[in-house]
Amino acid sequence: MTTDIRALGIDVGSTTVKIVGVDAQGNLAWSHIEPAEPRIEDQVTQFLERARAENNLDGNIPLVATGYGRGLVTQATRKVTEITCHARGIFRELGHGGTLVDIGGQDSKVIAITSKGDVIDFAMNDKCAAGTGRFLEHSAQRMRVPLEQIGPVALATTAEVVISSTCTVFAESEVISLLAHGASPESILRGLHRSLIKRIVAMIRTVGLVSPLMLSGGVAQNEAIRKMLEEETQTPVMLPKHPQLMGAYGAALMGLKQDLSGL
Ligand code: ADP
Repeated sequence: MTTDIRALGIDVGSTTVKIVGVDAQGNLAWSHIEPAEPRIEDQVTQFLERARAENNLDGNIPLVATGYGRGLVTQATRKVTEITCHARGIFRELGHGGTLVDIGGQDSKVIAITSKGDVIDFAMNDKCAAGTGRFLEHSAQRMRVPLEQIGPVALATTAEVVISSTCTVFAESEVISLLAHGASPESILRGLHRSLIKRIVAMIRTVGLVSPLMLSGGVAQNEAIRKMLEEETQTPVMLPKHPQLMGAYGAALMGLKQDLSGL
């Protein structure tokens, strides 16, 4: 059975491309996600063809683009920043103001959201991979730990190695050296998580922490991130059902509003 999709949102990230369809009530009704390809325009065209075929859509449906590569979505009826879209998606799903932390593959953001869902401040790190998914991913690959296991493996121990390198490239060399000196992959991974969390907490401090903390982005699927962020801030952390889709979802919601207001 196909759902009646009224608007689409596409989030062209640096690591993955996400597309979401919403129904007339703004429910997340359809989605698709793939790793980002070098030819973004071709990939976006394929995503749209897929969305149309799987949902029997006509060509006039609103399409809002967000993410790092939104400028390349020539088919978009509107382009909106990730900050606005993540805040929109998360507010609709969790119904809360507070401090949102979005950790993606190559950037991270902290967004202050009012109790009415408006963005009042944000901080963004897109210069340094150390506060992003890539930081964990690269070192985990070295230790042959698959992506989905990064969090569970880090939580499997209480032993924790201190990682002194703040740069992803140096951290990778440090990991190799630690392994050679007999440190366990579990304790190293836990230390890497701690290092990432400390960077995120420093960003949270620049914006100010208003409880609850909320998480979005692909890295939010890592259970250790949620647990250690709670530990480090002594603040509850809330997760949406599909954290990686929150940008695309927020974009689709904006398309729906555009449709309803007849713009
Ligand atoms: P972007 O929007 O920047 O392209 P995403 O929000 O899609 O990035 O997040 C991608 C990142 O999420 C990947 O780099 C990966 O490290 C991380 N990720 C995805 N799933 C998991 C998981 N189950 N555990 C840990 N990290 C994950």
